[in-house]
Amino acid sequence: MANDNKLQSIIGHCKEYGFIFQSSEIYDGLSAVYDYGQYGSELKKNIRDYWWRSMTQMHDNIVGIDAAIFMHPTTWKASGHVDNFSDPMIDNKDSKKRYRVDHLLEAHAETLPEAEGKALLEKMDQLLAAEDFTGLKALIEENKIKCAVSDTCNWTEVRQFNLMFSTQVGSVAEEASEIYLRPETAQGIFVNFLNVQKTGRMKIPFGIAQTGKAFRNEIVARGFIFRMREFEQMEMQFFVRPGTQKEWYEYWKEARMKWHLSLGIAPERYRFHDHVKLAHYADAACDIEFDFPMGFKEVEGIHSRTDFDLKNHQQFSGKKLTYFDTELNQHYIPYVVETSIGLDRTVMMILSEAYEEQDLSEGDKQDSRVVLKFPPMLAPIKLAVLPLTKKDGLPELARELINECKPHFKCFYEEKDSIGKRYRRQDAIGTPFCVTIDHQTKEDGTVTIRHRDSMQQERVPMAGIKQLILEKIQAF
Ligand code: ATP
Repeated sequence: MANDNKLQSIIGHCKEYGFIFQSSEIYDGLSAVYDYGQYGSELKKNIRDYWWRSMTQMHDNIVGIDAAIFMHPTTWKASGHVDNFSDPMIDNKDSKKRYRVDHLLEAHAETLPEAEGKALLEKMDQLLAAEDFTGLKALIEENKIKCAVSDTCNWTEVRQFNLMFSTQVGSVAEEASEIYLRPETAQGIFVNFLNVQKTGRMKIPFGIAQTGKAFRNEIVARGFIFRMREFEQMEMQFFVRPGTQKEWYEYWKEARMKWHLSLGIAPERYRFHDHVKLAHYADAACDIEFDFPMGFKEVEGIHSRTDFDLKNHQQFSGKKLTYFDTELNQHYIPYVVETSIGLDRTVMMILSEAYEEQDLSEGDKQDSRVVLKFPPMLAPIKLAVLPLTKKDGLPELARELINECKPHFKCFYEEKDSIGKRYRRQDAIGTPFCVTIDHQTKEDGTVTIRHRDSMQQERVPMAGIKQLILEKIQAF
């Protein structure tokens, strides 16, 4: 399937099966904002839980917090976001359409032969690193890049555009003061660094993890839930002794890649991309890129942030943010290595990896299915229980099995339509196991379990189903 088609198929499937809807759809939607439906929210929660447990449960030196979205406005001065959190933009004078310069050049590079495209992107990286806006405009003009709407090359100068949303707090207008919706969750961790370190008696090296919403006024928001204006991040800041950040940066690069591979995704679907243009806070940075239907794109960033954030918060707040290292008998501001992954992008990664259209035709018999091959631990529903008929005590037996299993994992009961149709519906939402209760169950207590990916069926004792599934969905 062509990749563009694949993306469109996934979007359509997500809507049809209750995974993801356009926000405020009845009012024609809100661009780059999405709502998760009944299965999407389960999938997202399962990914978030897996990440959370991988960080906080599997590392005894990482704890989690849940900081507020609103923060004191000075936070964003200290972090550099007020001055630096902007992207170079260019407007087309005829269509008035605004573009992110890097996106415009990247899209053009894709239309060129490979070597030329690569050379163009290298040139772009150099100009971005040097913040050479005149050079960037010249590069767009030299390549005769046109606006997709007006089809002209009539461009404005390249300008910086801040991505933070702001709003007012205060009950009356005069008292109101402007605050920002956080563009990243990390700052909630930095300002709580000492609270957590002291109350948790944490010793360096240690980490603080958090998941939560972030907001960015993305100009060119496209690619479904890849780039949204309201999205969720899963971030972990790891506080280390100054001078050891390089080792920890390498450690977390490897650890995070291992986490991705633990989702059962093949290594060739990932690659690292080292940053040429480093963010204002970083001394090393890379992305983990995944092969999305639109090509390799960032899903996670790993950044060595130095002591930039804590030092600035100390300076702007006037509060000491140093740590006393008893082994060195020394006070210092720790260095930070962070891992920052987008939850929605991870949902999109899991969906694009899982989505498969299969032709199951045999001879003259036409058949096909759409299946979501989620890792069982992430699937929204783990077990569907299907009584063969609505009578003869079969529904009661099915309910018995559900009652036994539902305290442990999410189950689904369905008695309508043929078993074949019911299997297809479960395939389409990625349920790894279906159990059919039939008349034989009444006689010998056995059921048919059907495996989603292989479609193999086997007869097993009903009494063993709960344990069998628990073993398959175990994460660690
Ligand atoms: P990009 O270059 O794609 O804009 P970024 O480098 O600005 O991303 P970071 O600031 O490093 O992203 O944020 C960490 C993670 O948060 C990203 O790897 C991505 O998964 C996620 N993320 C960032 N912006 C968005 C967005 N607008 N929509 C969805 N996820 C996002």
